Order: sequence, then C-alpha cells, then structure tokens
Amino acid sequence: MASRVVKGGPALTEYLNASKSAEPLFGDVQKHVLAKAQQPSGRRQDVLHPSEIVKSDWCHRSAFHRLRLGAEPPDRLKTTFTRENIFAEGHQTHTKWQTWLTEMGRLAGDWRCAHCGVVFWHETTPTCCHGCSAPATCLTYAEVPLSADPLRIGGKADGYSPRDWALVEIKTLGLGSLRFERPEFLNRFMVGTEEFGPLPDLTRLWRQFRRPLPAAIRQTQLYMYLANHFEDLPTEKTVFIYDFKPTQESKSFTVTYDERFSEPVIEAAATIVDCIETDSAPPCNINGRAGCASCLAFEESK
Ligand SMILES: [Zn+2]
Ligand SMILES: [Zn+2]
Repeated sequence: MASRVVKGGPALTEYLNASKSAEPLFGDVQKHVLAKAQQPSGRRQDVLHPSEIVKSDWCHRSAFHRLRLGAEPPDRLKTTFTRENIFAEGHQTHTKWQTWLTEMGRLAGDWRCAHCGVVFWHETTPTCCHGCSAPATCLTYAEVPLSADPLRIGGKADGYSPRDWALVEIKTLGLGSLRFERPEFLNRFMVGTEEFGPLPDLTRLWRQFRRPLPAAIRQTQLYMYLANHFEDLPTEKTVFIYDFKPTQESKSFTVTYDERFSEPVIEAAATIVDCIETDSAPPCNINGRAGCASCLAFEESK
C-alpha cells in the first residue's frame, strides 16, 4: 500500500502511538484505520447536518463558513482510533437491526444497486433492482434521506416503518457516550469498591435508562420535522432501539413528534442561508465578538 500523508496535531500523535504498539499487526491495523479516516469521507460539506445543528454549541458563523467553503478547515480533521472504532461499531449495529427489519418486510427507504448504481425508494423489501432487475443480493439498504433544500439541511434517518408511521433510530449505548452526554446520569450509578475504587453498577444503570439521550431526541425531532414538512413522509413518532454495549441487552422507546421542538434550529438555518445570499457572516452565537474555537478555526486557516 502506498504510504499516506497524515496531518499534524492530535491525529499525528495518535498515529505515532499506534506505531509503538507491542504487536506489529495490531499497530498496523490502527495506523490503517487512522490513515483511512484522513481520506475524504463522502459526507457532504455543502449542507447542514442535523446531528451538528442540534448541538448546544453549534456556531452559526462556523456553519456559514463551512457552507461557503464546502469543506471543513484542515485542522478539524482529527480523530482517534477509539473514536473510529466507536463509529464502525455503530454502523455494524445499524446493519444488524436493518437486516432483521428487512427480513420482516417492515423497512421502507432507499435501496442502492451494486450492479447498476441506481438508488430507488421502496416501501417494503424489494425482490430485485428497479433499474436493471438485478437480484436482491445486489441491493443494500441506503436508509431514509431527509433534506430541506431551501434551508440547506441534509441528513439520513436509520429507517422508516410505514405500518407504524414511524422513523426508526438505532443507537448503541456505551459508557463513553454516557460520560460525554449525560455524566450526571452515569454518576448516579457509581459505587465505591474497596479494591478498584468507584465503578458503575451496569445492571442498575441499564434498568434505569428510560429515555433516549437529549441530543438524540433533538436530532430525531428535526428528522420528523423534515419528513413531515419537506419529504412528504408522514411521521407521527420515532421508534428508538438501543443496544447496550457492556451486556448486549437492548430496549426501545417511542418519541412523539412535536414540531415546536425544531423551530429554533429551522429559523437559524434560514438566517444562515440568508447570510450566504448576501455574503455577510452572521455573528458567533457561542462566544460573541471574540468568536469560538469552531468559527475561529475557519478564520485562522484563511
Ligand atoms: Zn440495478
Ligand atoms: Zn463561533
């Protein structure tokens, strides 16, 4: 394999740490995954991603710069092996549940044909390609595209169940995501042990996990808004399926559509689109005139 250039910063540190691994094969896999993460992901940079715009630290000024540039600033391309490992695991979990739902004929969405490249919508499991009649083995599920072109928002839900008028969201729950998103929830289940210090009581934590994480609710409310207002996909609710990483147990929740939830981000997206038309950057809504790390990354890399 040709050697690849890995950019400096945290990514380089991570890359060098991988080279130090005791087992060369293991170190090589980590280097391979990190080098792969530096390649363009195919993730569109000319649209606002729902996962990003529902975050409490979403900077409007930074979004303006990215849409105008059509790319992230160079120093934003940083990752770690663990982060990439979490992403890959998340994809595997999606595929597992989507395969089961497909076998049941309960999953609608886009399907992509490996033979002719066509992408088509189908309400149940297709038996062959609509473009070239290739057999179903050539088809992969391409999920549920949800966009609002006038607002330049583009995303994808994990599934749609026509019989339930419901979007489907598949999540993995690990200690890492809880530590990041709901540390106060995780802390409630820490118990002091004599030998190892504080450890989470996983059985009790999973039993008490009774609703999706707040960021996941905001994201799916926006998906439902896009489905109902822009995609002609009538949606009353989202069915969440959670896989708990430490024990492989799973459970589901329902979130009912409430369009008021998404009105602030819809308004913000409309403002950003207006700013692009007049080519005047909106102020940073996170840190005022000084700017935040996210918008400064664009302005300093000019
Ligand atoms: Zn085809
Ligand atoms: Zn900012």
